[in-house]
Amino acid sequence: AKEGQRGTLQVCDTSLKRAYAARRSLAKDLEHAVARDELRLAFQPIVCLATRRTAGFEALLRWQHPCRGSVSPAEFIPIAEDSGLILPIGQWVIREACRTAANWPGDVRITVNISARQFSDSGLVDCITAALADSGTEAERLTLEITESTLIRDDGGVLGALETLRGMGIRVALDDFGTGYASLSYLTRFPFDVIKIDRSFVQGSSGGANHQVVVQSICDLAGKLGVGTVAEGIETEEHARLAREAGCDLGQGYLFDRPLSAVDCAARLAAERLG
Ligand code: C2E
Ligand code: CA
Ligand code: CA
Ligand code: CA
Repeated sequence: AKEGQRGTLQVCDTSLKRAYAARRSLAKDLEHAVARDELRLAFQPIVCLATRRTAGFEALLRWQHPCRGSVSPAEFIPIAEDSGLILPIGQWVIREACRTAANWPGDVRITVNISARQFSDSGLVDCITAALADSGTEAERLTLEITESTLIRDDGGVLGALETLRGMGIRVALDDFGTGYASLSYLTRFPFDVIKIDRSFVQGSSGGANHQVVVQSICDLAGKLGVGTVAEGIETEEHARLAREAGCDLGQGYLFDRPLSAVDCAARLAAERLG
């Protein structure tokens, strides 16, 4: 039995070591990803639930690794955050997103995810200001998505930066709403323009009455606070109908479109505006 236990431990130890080694090697490769032009942005439509018209797009990072192929952001964003690489990568995302949005009609918005680490960088406001000016994209078209984890780390710096950015006309959205520990308390302490309702509630809402009550309550609350709502992860007509009935303004999910290349975004917008 002892032998067996030792054997098991060794296996765990080896697979842990392998996981660490894989992470270290990804971190090393990620350092060169920007310079080697391996990063791309995909853009997922955010549509008006009533008209299905494209209100904007969320920019989502894609990494085409030379050997591993496409690596999920769920895998490499945490590595980028831990290593600090999220700072140069995040700056690239902001510039690239603004540059792409500049080609769209003026009423189509662009939404960018910002990590907690990026708020501890004093250059964030300057980077956004320069990206808007260089691309010619109006500040009113830009929304920044942050999660509760950004607010948990706040030392006063996050609130200050958010106020500066909102003063410029930029919107701020609270992402993955409802999945954290204290989402409601943040609503009273930070200024938000939009709440993004996490897909676990949106998708659950066709399975049980409770989820629908939660989505409905979030929308009621948002309405009273004067905050907009986006329902995430809409995959079926049923999800779309329930989100709309709950009073949600906008929706995002595979039912409407997957994240698209910049070329496909332009085609989608052109088709929509013709038809
Ligand atoms: P997120 O911000 O919550 O983004 C939404 C995720 O849901 C995206 O995954 C999107 O492709 C996926 N999604 C969209 N519609 C549906 C649907 O109908 N069903 C399902 N099951 N999923 C849907 P993705 O692109 O893999 O990104 C994962 C996460 O990585 C993002 O979650 C975000 O937290 C992070 N991320 C992506 N790009 C960036 C970035 O540029 N900066 C930062 N800081 N984080 C990013
Ligand atoms: Ca997001
Ligand atoms: Ca989300
Ligand atoms: Ca998320």
